[in-house]
Amino acid sequence: MTTDYAADLTAYRAAVREFVTSPVLDKWRGAATDDVADDMRSSAGLMRCLYDAGFGRYGMPPEVGGLGGDVRHWAVLFDELARAGLTPTGQHSLLTTLAYPVARFAPRLAAAYLPEFLSGDAWWGQGFSEPEAGSDLAALRCRATRDGDDYVISGSKIWTSHGATASRIVLLARTGTQESRHRGLSMILVDVDDPGVTVRPIALASGREELAECFFDDVRVPASRLIGAEGEGWAVAMYLLQYERAVYAWLRASALLQRVRVLTEAMADGGSGTGAADGILGGVYLDLVSLRARSVDTVRRLAAGQTVGPEASTDKLLLGACEQSVYDAARSLLGPAFMFGEAGRQWREEWWYSRTTTVYGGSAEVQRGIIADRVLKLPKE
Ligand SMILES: Cc1cc2nc3c(=O)[nH]c(=O)nc-3n(C[C@H](O)[C@H](O)[C@H](O)COP(=O)(O)OP(=O)(O)OC[C@H]3O[C@@H](n4cnc5c(N)ncnc54)[C@H](O)[C@@H]3O)c2cc1C
Repeated sequence: MTTDYAADLTAYRAAVREFVTSPVLDKWRGAATDDVADDMRSSAGLMRCLYDAGFGRYGMPPEVGGLGGDVRHWAVLFDELARAGLTPTGQHSLLTTLAYPVARFAPRLAAAYLPEFLSGDAWWGQGFSEPEAGSDLAALRCRATRDGDDYVISGSKIWTSHGATASRIVLLARTGTQESRHRGLSMILVDVDDPGVTVRPIALASGREELAECFFDDVRVPASRLIGAEGEGWAVAMYLLQYERAVYAWLRASALLQRVRVLTEAMADGGSGTGAADGILGGVYLDLVSLRARSVDTVRRLAAGQTVGPEASTDKLLLGACEQSVYDAARSLLGPAFMFGEAGRQWREEWWYSRTTTVYGGSAEVQRGIIADRVLKLPKE
């Protein structure tokens, strides 16, 4: 009898562990390069391997190319990948936030396009932020105007992660008046190769061109590409944010725990373990365990079909703090090995990226505001 991995998480974990530690996957173990496009092409191969073996398909229903189960399967996959020295891929990061909202609000689009995402054949970017609409997302101006069976899209987006290599953009656009704020927004899936779309890469401080600016110059998109109904874009975006707070946070914690293991081994190998180093590593580990303790509850609630509300801003704050404490620890403990040479390159790149973790997906200041207003219900100043 074959094991029902969708129902048996323990068996799924054991089978994933065996697969991801097998030599078949050795070529994906090791550091990323400094070329994002190369990395994404390479990790697309890992996505394909996981998909063909079946393990990359759990967590999503069969109607959209999955094999059943829920977000806990993704959590297990990310843990096991990271433990085996296979950092969850850029495609996984994007999937954690984009797959579930599309499956929920646009099942036909999900059935048509999610299999390509799960298998690594294509990936999508998240086109929400604009130059004048980041924290205040409801101020966005990129417009989708109905014209017959199409929407005509004009405007621009900025800071789109992996926008330069993505095939499609999940775009939040204005279909109502500017004054209607969040009520006048709609979500739509746009193909990057549609006439009128221009994408320009933006380099991070490390030099990696991981973000992009996307321009939409009267781009015609069929109305059948709407994710949710017209005017429902804000609800879709809020639904999406739950997955970012829960599943993306889990993915990052898996990767961070592995980096702490690597750092701890490096300290032991160098024979430079000191009381001070132990104290720093212990503090970082404690931060990560606190994040995990919080995330376990958030992931379980999502898996049970519950709504994760504003309290998930705590998860986001904890994640930002962990990201920065892990890489600050690496910088102070590794010293010259961090600062110079090829051996430190990955640490340096990750350190730079960790600076952004209190900005993307809603800044730390904004999260504190949400917790103060909507969780603690503190009086307004
Ligand atoms: C690495 C990275 C990846 C990203 N990926 C994506 C992506 O894939 N898709 C996408 O759509 N966007 C993406 N973003 C954009 C990101 O979501 C925005 O940068 C973020 O929401 C902040 O918006 P902003 O940059 O316009 O800053 P602003 O909103 O202009 O904020 C500037 C400063 O003011 C503070 N501030 C603003 N409002 C308040 C307030 N109400 N209370 C207290 N302080 C406040 C902020 O905390 C911040 O310090 C990414 C950003 C980064 C850095």
